[in-house]
Amino acid sequence: MEKKRITVAHGDGIGPEIMEATLSILKAAEVPLEYDTIEIGEKVYKSGVLSGISSESWDVLRKNKIFLKAPITTPQGGGYKSLNVTIRKSMGLFANVRPCRALTPYVKSNHPKMNLVVVRENEEDLYAGIEHQQTPEVVQTLKLVSRPGCEKICRFAFEYAKAYGRKKVTCMTKDNIMKHTDGLFHEVFNEVAKDYPDIEADHWIIDIGSAVVANRPETLDVIVTLNLYGDIISDIAADVAGSVGMGGSSNIGSEVAMFEAIHGSAPDIAGKGIANPSGLLNAAVMMLVHMGFPEKAAMIENAWLRTLEEGHHTGDIYRDDISKQRCSTQEFAQAVIANLGKMPEHFPVTAYGEAGAIKVETRLESPGNKELVGVDVFMDWNEDNRDPNSIGKGLDAMTGSKLKLKMITNRGVKVYPGGMPETFCTDHWRCRFIPREEGTKITNADVVALLNDCTANGYDFIKTEHLYTFDGVRAYSLGQGE
Ligand code: NAD
Repeated sequence: MEKKRITVAHGDGIGPEIMEATLSILKAAEVPLEYDTIEIGEKVYKSGVLSGISSESWDVLRKNKIFLKAPITTPQGGGYKSLNVTIRKSMGLFANVRPCRALTPYVKSNHPKMNLVVVRENEEDLYAGIEHQQTPEVVQTLKLVSRPGCEKICRFAFEYAKAYGRKKVTCMTKDNIMKHTDGLFHEVFNEVAKDYPDIEADHWIIDIGSAVVANRPETLDVIVTLNLYGDIISDIAADVAGSVGMGGSSNIGSEVAMFEAIHGSAPDIAGKGIANPSGLLNAAVMMLVHMGFPEKAAMIENAWLRTLEEGHHTGDIYRDDISKQRCSTQEFAQAVIANLGKMPEHFPVTAYGEAGAIKVETRLESPGNKELVGVDVFMDWNEDNRDPNSIGKGLDAMTGSKLKLKMITNRGVKVYPGGMPETFCTDHWRCRFIPREEGTKITNADVVALLNDCTANGYDFIKTEHLYTFDGVRAYSLGQGE
């Protein structure tokens, strides 16, 4: 079998110990791999590289395309950037895949039948990190969701289900509140689901969906969701499975893929040789399936399951009633190696089909015909005891443009005209302007004229959002009470 080259990083804390154990198992299983080692993490951060990875290492990652990464320690403060976020975004790793499975009775879990996979969108949503403070009282973050981004991750989830013999994909969003961002994700999910009639598709609102993950996880199979929700529920799912220290995850892009344990660098036990290498080993198994070595992946996973069944347990999962040997990291790896070729007796035997790397293409069309129908102008205003009628009447009186005030909201709630006296107002006002004459076409030049008018009348506008229709459909939310 032709050897394939991958990139490895031994990381910080327990990283080098669990990487050594994992690589010894890959070697014993005769996986045809060659390794390029790169340095990432604490040492690189402390040498002054704020991203934690040097420019030469990027070239190695780009060349080999497959990256097996041990956990690293991110130094606190000092402007250091999360290496994971940097790698995910720079390399376009749009899908984060986290299988969460109970391993009872060897690892305690209240949900012994649980076996789900969280597919989390990895590049968009609130993780764009675009944040601003524009008034003394109010800060904001931008939640960006794109149609191709939604389509890629939803297709990936269905393709994953198909390749791994899973029966159902559950979408989780909060589209009852965020009708445009989460609504787009749900809408695209429904569109994509039509191409997979053999796979069941359903949707949960994320809050009740999270409760289902916590309380009835055995009813779920594949979950696909936006970045932030995925971040949260994948941790809930891993914890409910009882195996945070044992889970692997993958970050998949169209070219490059990164595989790692879900736990961190565990500085409290670093250097003691007692860490559980299972998380990184499971990540390596995911990597082998992705690279087209399904038999090797299954051989290692079956040997690992057999090792757990035989009671060779590292300290983190050791229990007097069920464990036979309290293993060091290396002893555990040796026990797995001794079991290569053997099958589990309690757990079902693992077999992987030719799943390979999951590729997805985007096909859905975006709407056309964009028409400007108004503008929201946000103001920093803190006068007249913040009486909405005062700012409202002031803006009503402006006549220097083709646009007139329609309403004002404060944190989304309509306060003018006709708000409620109880509504608490901050110094951040969203003022919605529409054409003075109904049906008049407006352009950006009219918005500029309006902003000039605001300036001339002493109003401090801090940002604008244009109101559009696409193909005649309103593409902005209404204010509460509008
Ligand atoms: P952690 O996951 O490192 O440790 C949490 C607890 O779990 C600790 O008690 C630890 O001893 C235990 N633990 C974790 N992995 C274990 C294993 N394989 N075997 C046995 N016990 C294990 O989380 P933390 O303490 O919050 O973070 C430590 C460092 O790791 C931080 O610098 C953090 O930034 C970093 N981190 C890195 C990654 C990554 O590289 N992907 C992920 C999470 C945290």
